[in-house]
Amino acid sequence: MKNSQTDKICLWCLAREPKVTFVKKAHTIPKSLGGQNYNNNVCDDCNYYFGNRDSHNGKYSIEVALKEAFSISRKRFLLGGIPKRKVGEFKSQFFEMKERNGKYRLAVRPSYMFASQIELCRAFKRGLYKMYLEELNRQYGKGFELDYNIIRHFARYNFSDLPVLYFTRRIGVMIFFKSEAETPILYFDRMNYLYSDNKFVEIEFLGHVFGFPITDFSVEEFEDYAQKSIEMKKDFFVEAKVIEKFTDVDISLSIMNS
Ligand SMILES: [Zn+2]
Repeated sequence: MKNSQTDKICLWCLAREPKVTFVKKAHTIPKSLGGQNYNNNVCDDCNYYFGNRDSHNGKYSIEVALKEAFSISRKRFLLGGIPKRKVGEFKSQFFEMKERNGKYRLAVRPSYMFASQIELCRAFKRGLYKMYLEELNRQYGKGFELDYNIIRHFARYNFSDLPVLYFTRRIGVMIFFKSEAETPILYFDRMNYLYSDNKFVEIEFLGHVFGFPITDFSVEEFEDYAQKSIEMKKDFFVEAKVIEKFTDVDISLSIMNS
């Protein structure tokens, strides 16, 4: 029998080898968004789950929700001043980017009208948590702690609901490198306006800032956190809102037009 100390454990289902296998490469950020990093602690079952529709109660896979939101932002970064036709088509089922005189705006396809906004937003929020825990684990070796079970329940098992704050920028000036859009990674503490404590964290991804709880919390604690956070970043951000639908997020980064 193998020494259980050396058996791998899955970050999500916490099952060990050989009960689960670790054959497939699990991208922490979808490959379709240019993600190139893997997390070696995601079992094949959990990896499959995030890439496919939940057969019981989901219309959209987590990967699709992330791709739909962030491929638009990513293209917006990559575009810079280049005419759209040279960057290629936006492969999105819901959106397209319209350009006029170098300004871009998001156009909604009819399919978006018929989409379930609640489900799409839910899959998106779960996707943020998925990227968060896998990148936290990859970058810092953390994440197995049972305190993170609220993330597992929501992201991996589709139970309960967790609030996600989105911060609206004051001005469209962002520090980024072109390589960041080509192969985006998740930032935890690059900018000193990103708040974190033992219950709430903020991440920056492709120009967007999100904040959310990572362990058990009360409503009062959440409100307190939101207040402290917006106060500390008021020079750069106008407001914070709890996202309820996909388009609460400025996915086309229209702020960059101004
Ligand atoms: Zn697993």
